Amino acid sequence: MLPNFAYIRARSKQEALDNLASQGAYVHAGGTDLLGCARDEVFEVEKVVSISRLEELKGITHADEGGIRIGALTTISEIAASAVIRESYPGLAQAASDVASPQLRNQGTLGGNLCQRPRCWYFRGDFHCAKKGGDMCYAVEGENRYHAIFGGDPCYIVHPSDTAPMLVALGAEVRISGARGERSMALEDFFVLPDQDLERENVLQQGEIVTEVVLPAASGVKSSYRKIRERGAWDFALVSVALAVRLSGSTVAEARVVLGGVAPAPWRSAAAEAALIGKEPNPSVAAAVAAAAVAGAQPLEQNAYKVLLAKGALMESLVAL
Ligand SMILES: Cc1cc2nc3c(=O)[nH]c(=O)nc-3n(C[C@H](O)[C@H](O)[C@H](O)COP(=O)(O)OP(=O)(O)OC[C@H]3O[C@@H](n4cnc5c(N)ncnc54)[C@H](O)[C@@H]3O)c2cc1C
Repeated sequence: MLPNFAYIRARSKQEALDNLASQGAYVHAGGTDLLGCARDEVFEVEKVVSISRLEELKGITHADEGGIRIGALTTISEIAASAVIRESYPGLAQAASDVASPQLRNQGTLGGNLCQRPRCWYFRGDFHCAKKGGDMCYAVEGENRYHAIFGGDPCYIVHPSDTAPMLVALGAEVRISGARGERSMALEDFFVLPDQDLERENVLQQGEIVTEVVLPAASGVKSSYRKIRERGAWDFALVSVALAVRLSGSTVAEARVVLGGVAPAPWRSAAAEAALIGKEPNPSVAAAVAAAAVAGAQPLEQNAYKVLLAKGALMESLVAL
């Protein structure tokens, strides 16, 4: 059952920010994740601030220098169906199409997808784990087949978003509003690992909201997203691979390789990128890139299969691209 909480449907961004300043106040965008967390008492929700009336946070528009701007309230379905995204950022259209189910994509928003909380069954369940202020990560000795193989210590959650790895691969920037004004940063720097901040998965402070994501122009960039899940549909990634590559003639001039489902944040592999840049893509280069991408993996007892999945999915994605 949902607990009692105050509910505000903000009429302006300022009203939303004013109401979000206090501890226990949460943004409600589509609510597909927030309300489940509230019902299951994953964290204490005292005030729910709906931003659904804020028209300026909706839609996909052209940005300066040929890129696009995607408002935080744009639904995942709109991203998957957008002609400009399908044409210029096909990897993002694919990532959005791979999120959850049609109903959840119609209701869920981009901001919510980036800020959703992890799905770790210890964090979501009745365990006072390290992330909730306890003194241990139960996944280390427990049921850890869906947990992190990179960047886990001291908490082995994986980041659940499908759009996040792809947006990082595409070099997205995120814009944030709060009581102290606006700020923006590379989306890659938005996410934090547990050894930086155990309680949060991103840099947002109490009262701050994501307002939009800006993508640079995609001319000459090929992108792809490959998601591997346990069930055929409506499931989070066991592993995903987001690639953005620019060729110069037949060699790779620029590359971003980002893995999802393997770490507490989208996991960009500098080693894989170094193994790809300057090369003419072929199956043996793909094998070397895939080996480089998983070289530092530290699997737990039940999730070494993710190393093989990541390697195989990355090779497939490179060959296909
Ligand atoms: C059964 C199920 C399956 C799912 N499968 C997938 C999947 O395969 N892939 C995937 O990527 N996701 C999946 N999701 C997760 C998620 O619900 C959706 O991805 C959705 O996009 C979340 O958006 P929302 O607008 O509903 O978020 P909300 O529930 O409204 O918000 C989620 C969190 O983000 C915060 N938040 C929301 N908007 C903002 C903002 N603009 N600024 C700051 N904070 C904000 C909220 O306070 C809350 O903590 C699944 C969810 C469910 C319930």
